[in-house]
Amino acid sequence: MIVPGETIGILGGGQLGRMLAGAAAQLGYRAHIYAPEADSVAAEVSAAFTCARWDDATAMARFAAECAAVTYEFENVPVGPLAALGDTPLLPHPRALETAQDRLTEKLFVAELGGRPAPFAAVDSMDDLSRAIASIGAPGILKTRRDGYDGKGQWRIASADEAGGLVLPPITLPPVPLIYEGLVAFTAEFSVILCRGADGNIVFWDSAENVHEGGILARSTLPASRQVLAQVPEARALAVRIAEALGFVGVLAAEFFVTRAGPVFNEIAPRVHNSGHWSIEGAVTSQFENHIRAICGLPLGDTRLAAKGVKMHNIIGDEAGDWAATWPQILSDPANHLHLYGKGEGRPGRKMGHVTRLELG
Ligand code: AMP
Repeated sequence: MIVPGETIGILGGGQLGRMLAGAAAQLGYRAHIYAPEADSVAAEVSAAFTCARWDDATAMARFAAECAAVTYEFENVPVGPLAALGDTPLLPHPRALETAQDRLTEKLFVAELGGRPAPFAAVDSMDDLSRAIASIGAPGILKTRRDGYDGKGQWRIASADEAGGLVLPPITLPPVPLIYEGLVAFTAEFSVILCRGADGNIVFWDSAENVHEGGILARSTLPASRQVLAQVPEARALAVRIAEALGFVGVLAAEFFVTRAGPVFNEIAPRVHNSGHWSIEGAVTSQFENHIRAICGLPLGDTRLAAKGVKMHNIIGDEAGDWAATWPQILSDPANHLHLYGKGEGRPGRKMGHVTRLELG
């Protein structure tokens, strides 16, 4: 057990780190952020900050020496340099990072565990792409295998043309490994978020029904609709197999599509997740608090809903500017909780904050 007063290291300096640092502070821990960018919104609310490149082994070792355990809020942390953490425990285990960082590895791993991903094929050339489209069909989505998030590194491939030929997008394939996925005809999207304790005990939050716009999460709603609730048990069972196969400790999120054939697996995030932000006010214990409890070897808190219904709305990009005028209005309704991440500029697609609205009985 890591006792309060000790320092928890967090790799990554964004809003997830900011909210994790808040939960750590609540439990009496000091948060130490490690991130390559100087303007870290997590460092702003933490006890210590190491600003260094991921591959700076000296800085990483010095950081580790000050931490009782290290966790991550960013899933694209390169795994190789983490060897410099030495004996300081890294939780969740870096094999979760390795699995989640590559869409092909992730889908093969989940299929092996009996999950149902969208049809997929690895693509490294235009020939591969033509073959993938011929076997899987179009429409589909071409994605970079690594480093994509929030809809970045993705290209929609439309359907066949009038003559029945395939319409390839006017793109030059980037010189990185790609994956082609068939477009899933889904009727809803949802996420399963669980927390696995150091003793293997697993707790779940209620599944949120999620709406994405332009590949970015826009809204999460609880309770989810009946069509989602009907597919949650199968999705949860898969998420448990994933967590156990990875020896996972902490919060794990898995995203699914609702289809007639059952839940189709989209992806996992080996970390706290945007579709769980509602849990700060909407659940008895938030995903952030339980993640800190799990990595410190403490008992996990109650994950039940703390309200009859909860809605989380992301504040994205330019919208933050428009919202500024309405912040007092949002806060004048006691059902609303406003979270702003302290990011300066509202660039398109940038997550600036969120509002959680509780529907009390
Ligand atoms: P991703 O970055 O892979 O999680 O994709 C972001 C969002 O794009 C998803 O939540 C879906 O709304 C959409 N999307 C991604 N892949 C597919 C797919 N194979 N079929 C249908 N929609 C998809």
